[in-house]
Amino acid sequence: MSDLQSDVIIVGAGLVGSSLALALAGSRLRVTLIDGRAPAPLPEDDSWDTRIYAISPGSQQFLTELGAWQRMPGDRLSPVSQMKVRGDAQDACLAFSAADVRVPQLACILENRLLQDALWQAVKAADNVQIICPAEPTHMALDGHAASLTLADGRVIEGRLLVGADGANSWVRAQAGITAAPRLYQQKGVVANFACERHHGQVARQWFFPDGILAWLPLPGNLMSMVWSTWDAQADELVALDADILCERVAQAGNHELGKLKLVTLAAAFPLRLLHLDRIVSHRLALVGDAAHNVHPLAGQGVNLGFQDACILARVLKAAGAGEDIGEHLLLRRYERARKEDILAMQTVTDGLQRLFNNDNSLLGWLRNTGLALTDRLGPIKHRLIRHALGSVDMVS
Ligand SMILES: Cc1cc2nc3c(=O)[nH]c(=O)nc-3n(C[C@H](O)[C@H](O)[C@H](O)COP(=O)(O)OP(=O)(O)OC[C@H]3O[C@@H](n4cnc5c(N)ncnc54)[C@H](O)[C@@H]3O)c2cc1C
Repeated sequence: MSDLQSDVIIVGAGLVGSSLALALAGSRLRVTLIDGRAPAPLPEDDSWDTRIYAISPGSQQFLTELGAWQRMPGDRLSPVSQMKVRGDAQDACLAFSAADVRVPQLACILENRLLQDALWQAVKAADNVQIICPAEPTHMALDGHAASLTLADGRVIEGRLLVGADGANSWVRAQAGITAAPRLYQQKGVVANFACERHHGQVARQWFFPDGILAWLPLPGNLMSMVWSTWDAQADELVALDADILCERVAQAGNHELGKLKLVTLAAAFPLRLLHLDRIVSHRLALVGDAAHNVHPLAGQGVNLGFQDACILARVLKAAGAGEDIGEHLLLRRYERARKEDILAMQTVTDGLQRLFNNDNSLLGWLRNTGLALTDRLGPIKHRLIRHALGSVDMVS
């Protein structure tokens, strides 16, 4: 006997799970959104979140359609107008701008907690979405008739579809018996924000070194967000450095392009891995976001892929006829098929670039630097790559 009847039960109210709940708001489907913990309230001061994301124009359009984007203060968002990618040879550079492909911006840089709060507030206002939080799922069962989820307090929720949006170490994925060995990059992404002596000019900068990939993303004003993906030992060393020494190391690694740096948020490190699953659906089950795939952050596309999952899954569920079972494997396969190519392409490109650049092989060194310089000179190829990175702007129907 269940305590709550639902149509779609989503476990995980991170950016992707919340966006899926919101994409189903206003539909005839009853949605239950469950998370172990609510997002922390926004700070009252003007401090910055360490977790910063590059959001593609396609994701921005999706989040705008959901009514979440408009909830974020414009003065905390920073457009990327230009991108400069450098190899380890001085003359190996790939540069492109929004104007090259006639779009207003290449990406928007924003704080995780701002977007999470905007989504959370919007979900709370949705009539057909019930939030259960904090809640700890302890048991799940998928059968011919229903998906049911038992919580630690004994409540049972029954629905027609269970969605795992519970991140890289997904409990739902494990319970469903969908397994795959992640490839550990033995690298961590070190993140920190800095105030810069010189303005970044809305340029995102990236350097590919044999021992890591450094990205400087523009934040409002003179601020800059760093993601330095490097081998575990070096990442741990960077995080442990005194603030002044870290600033000097980071400035030096980026050829002092923005002058002197001052640390604004403490450095933190996140382990990096590649996770590819052969299937992301089964009967009464679908996976979205990091529960379905993990990619190297060098292209800043992880959560963008997740938003595309949410958009497409919501579209498939809403398009189902009144008599159709939304937990039916064949119906869920439409979502899986629609996402397969995109996920694989992003995993192949990011993994390939990581392997090509993060090694000491001199032949590969020549190849990667020549490749960058050549791509820079080949207009059509360059423009195709940029268009792909912008994300599909037809995400929203
Ligand atoms: C260094 C770094 C930089 C990155 N930069 C970018 C970038 O610039 N652009 C980009 O697109 N992506 C980027 N990413 C990737 C991005 O961080 C992830 O893809 C994204 O956070 C995944 O969101 P999610 O909602 O799927 O999962 P999560 O953010 O992990 O959310 C999962 C949610 O599920 C909840 N949960 C987990 N387990 C349970 C459970 N058992 N029961 C109930 N609730 C549960 C958690 O509390 C959480 O709220 C970066 C990643 C790293 C490491």
